[in-house]
Amino acid sequence: MADLDLAESHLLGWLSTVGLDAHYVRAEGDYLYRLDEQGNEIPVVDFAGGYGSLMFGHNHPEIVALAQEMLAAGAPVHAQFSRHPYATELAARLTAIVSRETGEDETYNAVFANSGAEAVEIAVKHAELDRALKVAELQAEIAEHIEAARAAVAAGTASVPAEAALAVGLDATAPEPVGLEALATRITEVNAARAGVEPLLFALEGGFHGKLMGSVQLTHNAAYRIPFAALGTSARFITREDLPALPKIFEEERVDLLDLAVTGNEITVVSRPLPLLCAFVLEPVQGEGGIQVLDAESAALIQAACAGAGCPIVVDEVQSGMGRTGTFLASTGIGLRGDYYALAKSLGGGLAKAAVMLARSSLYRPQFELVHSSTFAKDYFSTTIGLKVLDLLEADDGAAYRKAAERGAHLIEMLRSVQRDFPDVVRDVRGRGLMAGLEFQDQSESGIEELRQHAEGATLGYALAGKLLRTHRVRTFPTASSPNTLRFEPSIHIGDEEVARLESGLRDVCALLRTQDGAGLLET
Ligand code: PMP
Repeated sequence: MADLDLAESHLLGWLSTVGLDAHYVRAEGDYLYRLDEQGNEIPVVDFAGGYGSLMFGHNHPEIVALAQEMLAAGAPVHAQFSRHPYATELAARLTAIVSRETGEDETYNAVFANSGAEAVEIAVKHAELDRALKVAELQAEIAEHIEAARAAVAAGTASVPAEAALAVGLDATAPEPVGLEALATRITEVNAARAGVEPLLFALEGGFHGKLMGSVQLTHNAAYRIPFAALGTSARFITREDLPALPKIFEEERVDLLDLAVTGNEITVVSRPLPLLCAFVLEPVQGEGGIQVLDAESAALIQAACAGAGCPIVVDEVQSGMGRTGTFLASTGIGLRGDYYALAKSLGGGLAKAAVMLARSSLYRPQFELVHSSTFAKDYFSTTIGLKVLDLLEADDGAAYRKAAERGAHLIEMLRSVQRDFPDVVRDVRGRGLMAGLEFQDQSESGIEELRQHAEGATLGYALAGKLLRTHRVRTFPTASSPNTLRFEPSIHIGDEEVARLESGLRDVCALLRTQDGAGLLET
């Protein structure tokens, strides 16, 4: 039984084929340590950075000390349905930071969660609750208007003209004139059918929002999404080229409910737009999509179209937020304002699992709290660590944000220098702050069979990451949906020496790719 691996051994087996199946025994700062055959520690520089969850590195001493203190003091970690002053404070501080950055006065209500996908799903769930309540409010208003029309007809102050019957598709030429009751019945039937139309979700092409049943339908990558399409509401994916046409795309989806008005001495039929647009979900910097930075112009097009059509914007800052790009939210850098924000990853300080959904207070529906919860969310341990992370970010007038920007610029400049020297093998370098990516040229035309296979199987990035780990003791991975792009998301403490180590590793890989040295690249 001891040899039986039932914990995703298929994945491990695959990682071993490219030499990525390391076993780490210790972690500190930007280093992970594994043991050699004699039991000595081998340091590996970690540029994967917990996939963006380690703004302050592994086991930051202040975060570890706080965790130890909490546990030693018998902290009430699982005290669901009680007062949570630490979570209240965390929510207050998050909203204060968001207001400072966006320059808006509005507060945001917080619903805590455990993972990034969960925070995104909470935002979409809330948006759908809000939409459904708006539909119900509209229907209630229409019912009142029908009553008012009925009263006016009964009092003899208004009558139903033939145009009103025609407007709802009733035959106005029938021997009996169409009365108010026939009109009301027709309107109620039409509205009931239209109000049941499925909500519309929009997301950007290339986006990644998680892999749970709901969130995976917002994740563009077909391999993750399509097998589970039957389980969730599918999103409409918008390309950057589509953005100028977004108002038209929204308008084409428009569905109206029918309403009645008493206009002078006539009953008239009026159209009321049905709130059908549930949410537009996007990342300001697409992480798994290959470190693609959204430009301010695209952000402005989305913002204007969504404001015009009443579509709430969910800004997924799970990877880009918490200071990684040099500001608390990456979206503020491009002028994008969310009705909802999803934050996770570094909120847990590398120790706790923590995430949060922030919803604009002016659209927040308190009844959401009665229909959504999780055993593990909002606990003392994770929210207290979240507060510590904010302390670290905000200390010295935001020195950590400046450090992220400065270290990121240094890292990206190094990547660009590699690109300049190897334009034949490096296709692009992208990123902002400590969210950087280097995309290799496609190798599907390579003369080396194994390289071609990796290119065709979308595993080239893993093979190159394996080489970097084996030979250079540098840990990185490709982004999930852009397999030729390696990601670099270290902590703000990443040193010049570590960046130089990455540089020599990348230059080695580039030289081997240039000479098409398959053995040098791929031998494990
Ligand atoms: N949104 C974004 C932008 C992400 O990058 C990720 C994870 N890479 C998620 C959502 C999902 O987060 P989690 O893995 O914590 O569910």
